[in-house]
Amino acid sequence: MTENSPKKRAYAQKNSNSSGKKPFYGKKFDPRKSGQRQDPHFDGVDVHVDQNFPLTIKRLGINGEGIGYFKRKIVFVPGALPNEVAVVRVTEVEPKYIAARVLKIREKSPNRVKPMDEFATEVGGFELEHMTYPAQLAFKKDVLVQSLEKFQPRGWSDYDLRDTIGMENPYEYRNKAQFPVRKIGKKLSVGMYKRSSHDLVDLPIVHTQDPVTMKVLRTIRELLDKLSVSIYNEDKNHGTVKTIVVRVSHTTGEVQLTFVTNTDGFPGDTALITAINQALPEVTGIFQNFNPGRTSLVWGDETIKLWGKDYIEETVMGKTFQLSPRAFMQLNYTQMAVVYKEALAALDLTHADKLVDAYAGVGTIGLSLADKVGEVRGMEIIPEAVDDANINAKINHIANAQYEIGTAEELFPKWQSEGWLADALVVDPPRTGLDTALRREILRTKPEKFVYISCNASTLARDLVDLTKAYKVDYIQSIDMFPQTARWEGVVKLTRRD
Ligand code: SAH
Repeated sequence: MTENSPKKRAYAQKNSNSSGKKPFYGKKFDPRKSGQRQDPHFDGVDVHVDQNFPLTIKRLGINGEGIGYFKRKIVFVPGALPNEVAVVRVTEVEPKYIAARVLKIREKSPNRVKPMDEFATEVGGFELEHMTYPAQLAFKKDVLVQSLEKFQPRGWSDYDLRDTIGMENPYEYRNKAQFPVRKIGKKLSVGMYKRSSHDLVDLPIVHTQDPVTMKVLRTIRELLDKLSVSIYNEDKNHGTVKTIVVRVSHTTGEVQLTFVTNTDGFPGDTALITAINQALPEVTGIFQNFNPGRTSLVWGDETIKLWGKDYIEETVMGKTFQLSPRAFMQLNYTQMAVVYKEALAALDLTHADKLVDAYAGVGTIGLSLADKVGEVRGMEIIPEAVDDANINAKINHIANAQYEIGTAEELFPKWQSEGWLADALVVDPPRTGLDTALRREILRTKPEKFVYISCNASTLARDLVDLTKAYKVDYIQSIDMFPQTARWEGVVKLTRRD
């Protein structure tokens, strides 16, 4: 289950009620004791789907949705803002929450703006586009507060929570577009799915995307149409092109293009490549990724080059990184540099230090810090990324860094037990946060310098409950990596207690 699932969301909200009062979920009903044939979900709040009522929005939840209370039961209303009064229509009634949608806003928040993307309320990833940017930045700090309130790690109420670092232009930041392609009637659509559905919305303009990615996508759409290239049909499970992936290098402007296909072969690819070469000189490499059948995964295991260069290159803090189509790179180049600079500033490295780059991806963090320390070791579970990290070390003439395949929770203890003791540690885990075994080992070995880069305030707060047994939190710097969305990112400086 993901962080966005409504059940978990309700739980998170329930446990982070900032009023300090315990939320009320209705009369206790225990079907085992009652012996009656009564709805086991009935909780004393009489409400049904399609019911309308006015609601005052109290605050935003961690997914950016408005929160109000109907007869003291929590109501989630996407698109509604704090202090607004809205008429809402119930869409879902669950034991612990009600979901509703806005019918009409009676009293508007001064923070409300018209979203740049008219489809913002329909598709995922634009949860905050109807809010002024300063209010978005304040929200991201509040997400952190809500998570700390829920988990209450040692000293949490005194943490120095720094104002979110935003972008000068909070649009056009996504360097990669990964858009499905479908033929709906006669129309070829390239875009995003409507929320929790398989209805594809054709999107000519997306303001959060780098315009180059959109230009390439739209041109490819024209070419696929003109050349009648076979498009995947999900119902019939046949046809070829499923998804177009476009990634642009911020440094060079070069574009890497991948067609994810249902079929092994790619009928018409020669003509298509010729047409792309003519229309889009910025495209320097074209690939096919084979991912057959109905699957929720975008990428299959097999990628072949159809034409051009194997890599695009990106420069990060003065180092060059080669990116093959599958290699991970942060989506927001500008804010990635802010995160890495914050990590560097928090570490205070010396040339004697042994640094661990945990959850390394293609080694961007460790390699950009390698010339400031004695030695870097990093680990990552995806073998291709580890290969890339070691290649990236070589092309930058970095001799004091090496990357290994494996989990942080296995390799960090292994290196320590072999006598290679880390002085400095950077962790940058996925949304699930740190594994218990890794936390235990950190508490046992207590590296002197420690920075936690987190993309999930909730698992960060959970992990801090453990970590603050040996460390104190100097500060948490929130950084807006994903403007217009509810996603949080931050850098935590930790100092050993002794
Ligand atoms: N530090 C990199 C990547 C961060 S994303 C950067 O800034 O670009 C998190 C990475 O952790 C992903 O590449 C993922 O494959 C990897 N990962 C996930 N679980 C892991 C684990 N248990 N141990 C090590 N790496 C893991």
